[in-house]
Amino acid sequence: MGPSILRYGTPEQKATFLPKIIAGEIVFCIGMSEPGAGSDLAGLQTRAVEEGDYYIVNGQKIWTSFAHLADYCYLVARTNPDVPKHQGISELLVDMRTPGITIKPIVDMTGAHHFNEVFFDHVRIPKSSLVGEKDRGWYQIAAQLDYERSGIERLMSNYSLLQTIMAHVQATGSSRSEIVRHRLAQLHIEFTLGKFLVYKVAWLLSRGVIPNAEAAAAKAYCTEFEQRLAQTASEVFGSYGQLMPDSPRTPLNGRIARAYLYAPAYTIQGGTSTILRNIIAMRGLGLPPG
Ligand SMILES: Cc1cc2nc3c(=O)[nH]c(=O)nc-3n(C[C@H](O)[C@H](O)[C@H](O)COP(=O)(O)OP(=O)(O)OC[C@H]3O[C@@H](n4cnc5c(N)ncnc54)[C@H](O)[C@@H]3O)c2cc1C
Repeated sequence: MGPSILRYGTPEQKATFLPKIIAGEIVFCIGMSEPGAGSDLAGLQTRAVEEGDYYIVNGQKIWTSFAHLADYCYLVARTNPDVPKHQGISELLVDMRTPGITIKPIVDMTGAHHFNEVFFDHVRIPKSSLVGEKDRGWYQIAAQLDYERSGIERLMSNYSLLQTIMAHVQATGSSRSEIVRHRLAQLHIEFTLGKFLVYKVAWLLSRGVIPNAEAAAAKAYCTEFEQRLAQTASEVFGSYGQLMPDSPRTPLNGRIARAYLYAPAYTIQGGTSTILRNIIAMRGLGLPPG
């Protein structure tokens, strides 16, 4: 959220939010996806209607990570329903303590609660919460998603698992297996390639350029690497690796099973790999829409 507020926020929003973000004092959730609007985000239905000094928000978001822990929601809502769907969308910074917000947990298949459904029922948001230009939110979102996809966490979220399986393989002597050695070498090569993609994105950001196809390539490659890493870890440990933390003999406190079960999420959250490949094809390579 920081780069978006830096780019589109008012001086007051920058003064209020940026120091707290840097200090790690506030948590944001991202209120974009809806039951009928994921990849096709412009189809969102949540409405924000002007009333005096406020927007009145009604609608529903889904898959909202950490909404139950967040102080603020970076909310995307429709402010003008009478124009083509990519227009008439605006972005609002919503205090999650505002009356009318209901959060319902969604438990994922690892058994954890990290994302939620969020319902907005006549939620009054001060107009000073608008980020950037009213009705021009779609054009801001594109840049915001590029920032969201640019983070090195797309490569690193399972890194300790890579280190742990390396240590385990050496300690148990399974490194003598040619197949295991090849798989681990392959992972190291892929990790190094992922690093170069992430560095390229960081280099563009440092020059003030919003990475677009580069961020899509980094996110698609790195998250697919994360999945291959989880797959390899579970193969190295075999069925024993599938035990969840509540079993006393679980290796690595269930991290392998958890990583394996969570892995499908990597290539969905923040834009699916298919959508990212569309971005690489059209905006990166200049190919016509398929
Ligand atoms: C772990 C996790 C955390 C998330 N956190 C958040 C969050 O904090 N905030 C938030 O707003 N959202 C969040 N999301 C939602 C996420 O952004 C959406 O799930 C994602 O954008 C896909 O949308 P969808 O689920 O509606 O699937 P759909 O858009 O319905 O896609 C279904 C399938 O169709 C394919 N598809 C769709 N359109 C096209 C097309 N044009 N061309 C080719 N293929 C296409 C997709 O690739 C996918 O395989 C999270 C999701 C996950 C899994």
